[in-house]
Amino acid sequence: IRKIGVLTSGGDAPGMNAAVRAAVRRGISLGAEVVGVRRGYAGLIAGEFVDLGVSSVGDIIHRGGTFLQTARSDHFLTPEGQAQALAKAREAGIEGLVVIGGDGSFRGALRLTELGLPAVGVPATIDNDIYGTDLTIGFDTAVNTCLDAIRKIRDTATSHERTFVLEVMGRHSGWIALAAGLAGGAESILLPERPMPMEEVVTRLKRGVERGKRHTLIIVAEGVGSGFEVGRQIREMTGYDTRVMVLGHIQRGGSPTALDAMLASRMGAKAAEVLLEEGRGGLFIGVENEQMVTRPLEQVLGRRKEIPDELVDLAEILAI
Ligand code: ATP
Repeated sequence: IRKIGVLTSGGDAPGMNAAVRAAVRRGISLGAEVVGVRRGYAGLIAGEFVDLGVSSVGDIIHRGGTFLQTARSDHFLTPEGQAQALAKAREAGIEGLVVIGGDGSFRGALRLTELGLPAVGVPATIDNDIYGTDLTIGFDTAVNTCLDAIRKIRDTATSHERTFVLEVMGRHSGWIALAAGLAGGAESILLPERPMPMEEVVTRLKRGVERGKRHTLIIVAEGVGSGFEVGRQIREMTGYDTRVMVLGHIQRGGSPTALDAMLASRMGAKAAEVLLEEGRGGLFIGVENEQMVTRPLEQVLGRRKEIPDELVDLAEILAI
């Protein structure tokens, strides 16, 4: 393999730029040419390529989002779309591809590998729900954004003796809610994976108030339902002054934390190495016990990484 492509696909995540930069520079250091593909698989089908030299990825390590932009492509789900993508890659001389994204993007990477274009996945999604890696790029930054909000809200909650409900991202996965709730000292954390009846939420809330707590913070992962609905029910069941905040898309943006920028740098570089040194595709890069690992994509697709019981239990114990 002498020339590789890099694309970002699916939802954006802080650290994607750092991963692109690392793949480009590691690729160049191994003697390869590197081409950036704009707008994910949609751009691959359309042949939207940009040559990426060493300095073309300068000054992006700290930027959120993805300078290559990202997209979702329904056309790429069809055999025609995939054949077109392959043809465009061949035309441009691309012999290997680094795909930075989530589960859906990895399915596309596997498909391309099967069709003869070796592709390697780099897990980047704030949800941290990809099986086979301890962390995904963007998760730590998103959790820190939530934590920042929690700490600010705490000030007001304490001053005014209010209950706050904070809705965070996580349609199917409670990783962000759990990590932010645990680190932020929330009273209750509502996770899609562990439904908690409202009676239980209210019991805990009242218990806290009775022992003299001046504020209560409840974290709701969006997959559980609307934070506004949870707030309404609490107000109805307790009469407490309850405010709701939905954090929304600010969780997806911002400069990557040190941890995410490091992780992205290591993963992006490793992806280039796997393609260029080993000549292999159909793999993805993970981190396990601080070490970079590679696994076949087939092994991780469609499998969700479960939230650890140990952390859920700890959050409950500490919230007494
Ligand atoms: P996130 O979880 O952050 O949203 P993702 O990578 O899972 O990221 P998707 O929208 O699921 O995001 O996938 C991105 C793109 O990958 C899709 O628009 C599509 O082009 C491609 N893709 C998804 N599933 C498949 C599949 N089964 N086969 C081939 N390509 C796929």
